[in-house]
Amino acid sequence: MSSKLERLVTVRPTVNLPQCPLRQPRNLPLRGLLIVPFILQLVITVGLVGYWSFRNGQQAVNELVVNLQNQATQQINHHLDCYLTNARQLNELNATAISSGLVDPKDQDGLGRFFWKQAKLYQVGYILFGAKTGEYVDVGRPQTYPLELITERMSSKRYGDNRLYIYEPDSQGNRGRFVETGRYYPFQKEAWYTEVMRTSKPKWTSVYTWQSFTTNPLAIAISSPVYDKNKNLIGAIAIEQRLSQISDFLRQLKISASTTIFIMERDGRMIANSSSTESFKVVNGTPTRLKASDSPDSLIQSTATALNQQFGSLDGIQHRQQLRLVLQNQHQFVQIMPWQDDLGLDWLVVVVIPESDFMQQININTRHTILLCTIALMIAILTGIVTAHKVIQPILQINASAKAIADGNLAQTVNTQGVHELELLSHSFNRMADQLQQSFTALENANYVLERRVEERTAELERANRELQRLSEVDGLTQIANRRYFDQYLAQEWHRLQREQQALSLILCDVDFFKKYNDFYGHQGGDCCLRRVAQVLQQTVKRPADLVARYGGEEFAIVLPSTDFKGAIAVARSIQHEIYQSQFPHPNSEVSEFLTISIGVSSVVPTNTASPEQLVTAADEALYEAKRQGRDRYIFHSIPQPNA
Ligand code: GH3
Ligand code: MG
Ligand code: MG
Repeated sequence: MSSKLERLVTVRPTVNLPQCPLRQPRNLPLRGLLIVPFILQLVITVGLVGYWSFRNGQQAVNELVVNLQNQATQQINHHLDCYLTNARQLNELNATAISSGLVDPKDQDGLGRFFWKQAKLYQVGYILFGAKTGEYVDVGRPQTYPLELITERMSSKRYGDNRLYIYEPDSQGNRGRFVETGRYYPFQKEAWYTEVMRTSKPKWTSVYTWQSFTTNPLAIAISSPVYDKNKNLIGAIAIEQRLSQISDFLRQLKISASTTIFIMERDGRMIANSSSTESFKVVNGTPTRLKASDSPDSLIQSTATALNQQFGSLDGIQHRQQLRLVLQNQHQFVQIMPWQDDLGLDWLVVVVIPESDFMQQININTRHTILLCTIALMIAILTGIVTAHKVIQPILQINASAKAIADGNLAQTVNTQGVHELELLSHSFNRMADQLQQSFTALENANYVLERRVEERTAELERANRELQRLSEVDGLTQIANRRYFDQYLAQEWHRLQREQQALSLILCDVDFFKKYNDFYGHQGGDCCLRRVAQVLQQTVKRPADLVARYGGEEFAIVLPSTDFKGAIAVARSIQHEIYQSQFPHPNSEVSEFLTISIGVSSVVPTNTASPEQLVTAADEALYEAKRQGRDRYIFHSIPQPNA
């Protein structure tokens, strides 16, 4: 088939199109073009949806956490109000009851029952009364006794040694079973007493620690001055609250799984906290208050440290603050709320909620989303690959067939299935290949016919050329070489023999009285005679290199290469002899009754100094000499030497 194509190429030369100067665009593989946008679309859509759902979840969690923190701080607020303000109001009430004479401060048993009933009704630690005169009564819930309530009394008059006498009350609040004595308690030196006695104003004490207790030692007391009917200051009355109860309350608040709440003073020392750790530490058996930043609970400790760093001083926090901090490698929602009291309490309530408490489910959802996205992505990639394969394979097949056609293999059939458009394309391709093949076959046949015709025409032309050549060299009448060919041949042989340094001889013959021959036989007879003379001459010369030519009119020339003057004279004789033998009648000849010829012979070894024309001239002169001497003879003339 390639040979067919080659032949076709000779028929229709290929056209060299100019090179396109434009830069070729970067080629993109179809597989990538089909898969990448698909996946990009999917990734962007799923990513955005996932991101927004995650952000919405986060925002919802933020709002939820803030709400929970607000609820928690409200509850704590309320609890502190109840726990501390109620104590304050009750204390005011007791001071007023004594001052107004409703309760006799000197009746220790009556005071004890009065306090006992209040302690039963209210959540208080201790209710205490100390008189200037040294009497002291309290009712309270001790840390060390398994009793609900005790009464402690002392009277300077009766005892005078500041030692407490402790009794278990009966069901009516009366002094019951004697429990213990001997604890030294100079109440006149206690803060709840000294401050009030100095300022005569109700006041909260600072938070203090019960030195002898290692459990629940933190306490605070509200104390008020007590007057008699005459408005004379007779002592101080106080209610002591155990701060562990605030911690208990904080612990039972259920905000979230890991919520931590702590309350601290402005100097950072802890009041209470919801963790399992204490707000104090025991050093050498003595409880000491802890700063929140020193708490054994790492979250409280890191939160307090972060707040210190954030605000510099906690004194500046006057309003509820909402923060989102990274503590212990986790996001923590931190809310700080100041809680204040007009009698000197100024605390900060801190609620810490780890984001993970709420983000856990959202994070699980996010992981599920990522997993689903990955699966969807895999499915998309697989679908893309399969789709791309279905589209690309037929295209590659068509491309391979097109290449094969370009390489000359026209018998191509593409068979694709699965994609309608590609089936149409392959169908069209097959039709095109068929038509191409048919066209090539037709073209090939046409080309073959054309070639045959060209060959025939070429042969005809060659024949015509040869004939023309022959006609240009042959004399039309005698069919021997003409004058033109004679000149050419003489020059050629001259040069050849000059190289070989051999002799070249020339004979010129002229029919005697030929005019008269014509006159007698007519021109046609003359023509016939000339043909016959030519035949005789032709038959007489033997060598292949000898040339007989018609020189003009009734004159003939014979070129004799490699022949010296002797040989030439021998040829002239035999010509003369043959003409005699032929006996062509010539009645009008003046020298014979038969046709005769006169012959001029010349011979030379060609040199640079001589020329073919000189050889002809010499032969011509010899011929004229023969005519002059009476015709029917031969005369030899040599070429005159240059120096002669
Ligand atoms: P001489 O012996 O001196 O050669 O006399 P001649 O008559 O042969 O020479 P001349 O030159 O006087 O005449 C030549 C004649 O040859 C004249 C012409 O009619 C005749 N002739 C020349 N060519 C042809 C030809 O082709 N055919 C015929 N029939 N006659 C020719
Ligand atoms: Mg003549
Ligand atoms: Mg003549």
